[in-house]
Amino acid sequence: MRITGMKVEKVRIPMTASLKVAFATVDSLESVLIRVETDEGCVGFGEASPFAPVTGETLDGVIAVLDIFRQGLMGMDPMDIEAVHAMMDGVIVGNGAAKCAVDLAMYDLMGKAAGVPVYKLLGGYSNTVQNDITIGISTPEQMAEEAKKYVSEYGYRILKVKAGIDWQEDIRAMKLIRGAVGPQIRLRVDANQGYDIAKAQRALKGFREYGVEAVEQCLPHWDLEGAAYLRNHAEGIHMMLDESIHDPVDAARACRLGSADILNIKLMKCGGLYPAQKINAVAEANGVTCMVGCMLETRLAITAGLSLVAAKKNVTEADCDSFLYYKENPVEGGFVQDKDTFTLLNKPGFGVTF
Ligand SMILES: [Mg+2]
Repeated sequence: MRITGMKVEKVRIPMTASLKVAFATVDSLESVLIRVETDEGCVGFGEASPFAPVTGETLDGVIAVLDIFRQGLMGMDPMDIEAVHAMMDGVIVGNGAAKCAVDLAMYDLMGKAAGVPVYKLLGGYSNTVQNDITIGISTPEQMAEEAKKYVSEYGYRILKVKAGIDWQEDIRAMKLIRGAVGPQIRLRVDANQGYDIAKAQRALKGFREYGVEAVEQCLPHWDLEGAAYLRNHAEGIHMMLDESIHDPVDAARACRLGSADILNIKLMKCGGLYPAQKINAVAEANGVTCMVGCMLETRLAITAGLSLVAAKKNVTEADCDSFLYYKENPVEGGFVQDKDTFTLLNKPGFGVTF
């Protein structure tokens, strides 16, 4: 099988409500969808969902980079995934979202060629995933109301709460949310780099009272030593890193320093499923588990993320919820949802259609 063509398309989808996190507010998704064609008539789909504050990429930048990759890809075999990544890494450093688009199209093609879903190609540990849902920053009262709705109306059992602007309000939010959802619901917090060490320590002390199980990315992305210090003082709360972990080298350094209990893998940061598996292998060999998170991705990249969670025993958590906030979905298929349980389709590749 040889690659003969690649088509690139921009999509913009408004969200049902804006989502506020510590460093940004977003109200629409902007993504690049690609379609890779082969000499055997097989077509693979991929997606880049750049988020400039984290990956340093823009939509137009992704399109320019994909244009460069196109020349290298022509004539390559999608099965040769190491060679495809070596080509991309040789052309340009970073640019995880652009590389992810190509990587996903390769996995979709591999699955279709083999006649199996991608989660089986990746390891096939399971085909179902329990997903969390994210609550953005607003007043603690509004956040508690939203939490109650997700639990009682939609059946979610894990809530991820955004924080990091005001640690005192963050503690108050967790108090009200815990009061609203009861003791059984699992609560996680994501500070999105918004604290310093002193604020993080005060926040952790408060969160402990309300049974918060994990706190994500307290400190700026570059501060792995600070993260290790916090983890040594976390006393019963798992510490997670997201913006600090872009590739397997970051993962290795975080593990060496003891900076995290859990790594948040995002396909758009690391460049797709192939490097994501390397991050997970580094983590697993160091006794660290992984979660798969997401940017503002369509159902296509979300299916890829869920496939990785399902496939790997060491990827124990899923935060793959972005597609739930869109007014319309340009992509269908991939998985079915029953409350907070997502089951991947038994179709070749990702099993998605446009
Ligand atoms: Mg995060």
